[in-house]
Amino acid sequence: MPCTAKKFEAQRPELAANGYPDVDVVITTRELARMIKEAGINFLALPDESFDDPLGVSTGAGVIFGVTGGVMEAALRTVAEILTGEELENIEFGVVRGLEGIRTASIDVGGVTIKAAVANGTANAAALLDRIKSGQEHYDFIEIMGCPGGCINGGGQPILTAQQRWDIDIKAERAKALYQEDRDMPIRKSHENPQIKAIYNEFLGKPNSHTAHELLHTHYTERLKYC
Ligand code: SF4
Repeated sequence: MPCTAKKFEAQRPELAANGYPDVDVVITTRELARMIKEAGINFLALPDESFDDPLGVSTGAGVIFGVTGGVMEAALRTVAEILTGEELENIEFGVVRGLEGIRTASIDVGGVTIKAAVANGTANAAALLDRIKSGQEHYDFIEIMGCPGGCINGGGQPILTAQQRWDIDIKAERAKALYQEDRDMPIRKSHENPQIKAIYNEFLGKPNSHTAHELLHTHYTERLKYC
């Protein structure tokens, strides 16, 4: 995971089915890279292998989850096609892309205009929520990512040297890499992932079914603020 917060999250009581933690251990991308280096593994020399089933097939929609605006764009690709019953001509929602702290857009989805807002970084999230709470603005669909830029800039990601930080705009480069990866994927929409379709057909029923709700949704109990 790019995220150090996941280490805490995995220990939350809400994420333990029948008292057993759903997640055994969380390893950040930085830790994994160190472990690979320490073990002397040369990835370029490894033979290709298949991924585990059923988690081995992913989509471009999943890839862009890592960048601010990406979760919203992935959801829009699916919602627009389900609502209209037609294939989107262009699945890239450029209006929700970009690294500004708060971005807003009106998006036509099947003839309905959706007011959307994307915030990244907690300061921007607070500012956006204040605007909504005051009644100043209204949105139908909001995406918030805790880290500036999204998971591409998460606390568990590799740390750049001062010189590297000076030389490159790492958030922009990582965002560019994810959008390119998405374009190169054979499947770019979540609802076209054959393994996800099989899981729904064979086990979960349909999105938001009782079983899906029980197993895929969670809730959070309020905690005191640390002062
Ligand atoms: S945006 Fe940051 S806090 Fe949120 S999941 Fe990604 S890495 Fe974790």
